[in-house]
Amino acid sequence: MIPYRPDLVLVQEQSWQDSATHELLEKLQGIETRTIRSLDSGSHTKNTLLLMHYPGKFLKRCQGAGAEICCNYYIVSYAWNCHLECTYCILQSYLTQEALLVCTNIEELLQEVKATLEQSPRRVYRIGTGELADSLALDHITSYSRKIVPFFANLPNGILELKTKTDQISQLKDLDHKGHTIISWSMNSDRICRSEEPKAASFEERLTAAVQCQKWGYKIGFHFDPLIHYEGWENEYRWASTSIHSSIMKDGRTNIGKRLIKSFVSLIPIMWRGSAWDRFALRRI
Ligand code: SF4
Repeated sequence: MIPYRPDLVLVQEQSWQDSATHELLEKLQGIETRTIRSLDSGSHTKNTLLLMHYPGKFLKRCQGAGAEICCNYYIVSYAWNCHLECTYCILQSYLTQEALLVCTNIEELLQEVKATLEQSPRRVYRIGTGELADSLALDHITSYSRKIVPFFANLPNGILELKTKTDQISQLKDLDHKGHTIISWSMNSDRICRSEEPKAASFEERLTAAVQCQKWGYKIGFHFDPLIHYEGWENEYRWASTSIHSSIMKDGRTNIGKRLIKSFVSLIPIMWRGSAWDRFALRRI
């Protein structure tokens, strides 16, 4: 996969007060950077990166998928949008701004999570960052995993899930995660990875990254998200799941994300209204 590199960085005025903004820009030296007052100004492409001091609450309950039983998943979002452009991606219908957006007040996000979890110390919170963006697609620029993973390691009742279709795991090496972080890969059959997720890491690359993370002691998860029905799907999904099971170490555990499969079904009406439907695999296979 090709790592994201913007050709323009727009920094919201308030973001300059956040140390993350300066750390981030160090990695983007040579790229045109402008300060803006409002994020609404202008329309941009995915080659534009917006840095924003987010004023709202970060931690939210998953809105669920209309399932009868809620699994009590929580979402914390520090980035919006994704450059990988999978054909079926719901974000393309859901988000109004093309540019990729990163929240720079990451320290406030962490403090908000800590305060919430401390209010209910007997309750275990599972919190994912991959709802409005790929959790690791921008990690080579933000290095946020290096802040978030050790932070969750010291939250006795917090489990963090980083969900990705990338193989960008270098920042995760040597982090003291204490078993509180799950790295999850969104997988598909090899054919769908090639045809519908061509900018993401290949099936093999994702699997290799998962095996490496498992060696670093992380818990590993795999989601089939979405499952796509096409001629030959049974054999190809069987091959995919067999490959996963034979690659992970014997004492590893898989976390097959039924929640996300249900979520996808509920999102079809939104896709129907938006542009993602025109590019969706079912229309073409
Ligand atoms: S990796 Fe995930 S967030 Fe990114 S385009 Fe694909 S489906 Fe959307």
